Amino acid sequence: MSALSVSASLLPTNIEEVHAFWIAGGSCDGCSIAIVGATSPSVEDLLRGVIPGAPKIVLHHPVLAVTAGEKFMAPFRLAAEGKLGAPFVVVCEGSIMDEGLAGATGGYWSGLGADEDENGDPQPIPSSSWVKRMSKHAAAMIAVGTCATWGGIPAAAGNPTNSAGLMDFLGEDYRSGLGLPVVNIPGCAPQGDNMTETIAAVLLFLHGLGPLPEFDELGRPAWLFGETVHRGCTRAGFYEEGEFAEEYGDKECLVEVGCWGPVVQCNINKRGAIGGMGGCMNVGAPCIGCTMPGFPDSFAPFYATPPGTIVSSNISRVTGSIVGNLRKMTQNYQNRTAKWNRDGKVPSGWGHVEEPNLIEKVAHFAYQKLQFWNSPKPKESTHGNILEHKMDWKKENGKLKV
Ligand code: SF4
Ligand code: SF4
Repeated sequence: MSALSVSASLLPTNIEEVHAFWIAGGSCDGCSIAIVGATSPSVEDLLRGVIPGAPKIVLHHPVLAVTAGEKFMAPFRLAAEGKLGAPFVVVCEGSIMDEGLAGATGGYWSGLGADEDENGDPQPIPSSSWVKRMSKHAAAMIAVGTCATWGGIPAAAGNPTNSAGLMDFLGEDYRSGLGLPVVNIPGCAPQGDNMTETIAAVLLFLHGLGPLPEFDELGRPAWLFGETVHRGCTRAGFYEEGEFAEEYGDKECLVEVGCWGPVVQCNINKRGAIGGMGGCMNVGAPCIGCTMPGFPDSFAPFYATPPGTIVSSNISRVTGSIVGNLRKMTQNYQNRTAKWNRDGKVPSGWGHVEEPNLIEKVAHFAYQKLQFWNSPKPKESTHGNILEHKMDWKKENGKLKV
């Protein structure tokens, strides 16, 4: 974990509003779509300031804004000059592309607004230029999505735009107005709640009502990205018992059809994609490592068995076949009442329930000895002994009668 400390003297006090400027570089806009699906808290919660103690957000987003043209751009210009008169954060979506490359041919990769050139002609202002200008005065620079954090798909092998993530672009010595390095919330697209929750935590900190949220050594919110997705996976029990899907649609662990979950830091299985629903393996998709700095190249080819699984899944197969069978034996006993054990049969009309054999009975006896080694065993239940009320069904003219 990072040992970052922020001087209290840098903290503004009594803030009622914090401006958030959304800047898009090389992106598909998926992060924007993901954040408007957030529910905990929602973007509307942040805009209306309904989180107790958190200042209200004034959002400047090129897609969601109701203003346009110079009216929309004016606050960007003020913030870039340090004249906004209110604290602000910059949220970057998409990778930072090398505008020098595009400029050499008279073009640009991505931009927002325009400045006049020496001839009075409007020239687009590249996103990277906004990032550079605004980063000097921002309270925090927050990269959302894998393109903005690590470079992502635009920076994959070939990389014709010479793309990079925000941290690479601003450099390791960068510190925001609050003394923070770049905050990174990866994912392709990132989970919406991961973004809003981190922004809310930073807002509470800005307002002096919360501690500085804990970030790991790569600037990820530690409480969201500290565990592998495998640890929270609903299929992890199958992995442990050595049961693996052979094709998509199977219910077992997906590692042999291309899941990298055991080494990928992501919380989507616990949190769901939107409103607690969905999430990759929950809906049958193997993890392709989209939150990780090595994505996509390090996880290619997608949907092929990761090499590491040759060792780990085969070990699980061996241990799982032993552990799984022992568990089955215990489960069979836990599916019986004390009376059924005494009677030596299960009175179910739904189907025949096999009675335990001698080996199973001995194993269960030993198991119970261990179970109650240090605590008293409950007295055997007399459940079901009121036999005088037992129904005795007979058939008369094809109908059941007592
Ligand atoms: S599907 Fe992936 S994340 Fe889930 S248990 Fe299997 S390997 Fe782990
Ligand atoms: S489970 Fe894997 S593919 Fe799915 S969001 Fe997380 S890192 Fe990306």
